[in-house]
Amino acid sequence: MPKKTINEVRINHLWCKRCGICVHFCPRQVFSAGDDKLPYVQDLDRCIACRLCEYWCPDLAIEVLTDE
Ligand code: SF4
Ligand code: SF4
Repeated sequence: MPKKTINEVRINHLWCKRCGICVHFCPRQVFSAGDDKLPYVQDLDRCIACRLCEYWCPDLAIEVLTDE
């Protein structure tokens, strides 16, 4: 089966409450956060599209966009 392409992990900063769950629990350390605690995608190449960040984000602020 061909590997799916991950186009973007999108974070809606208007909804994000800066809890840090995505930063701490992504199994591939895709996210990082600045001094303001807002998460950002540091390394998209590490993402395996498991979508755990989508499920765990309490504010539904993350969307994993793939070619599927
Ligand atoms: S889990 Fe959601 S609300 Fe928490 S820091 Fe990440 S994007 Fe923001
Ligand atoms: S989909 Fe999985 S690997 Fe990719 S950023 Fe979210 S939790 Fe991390």
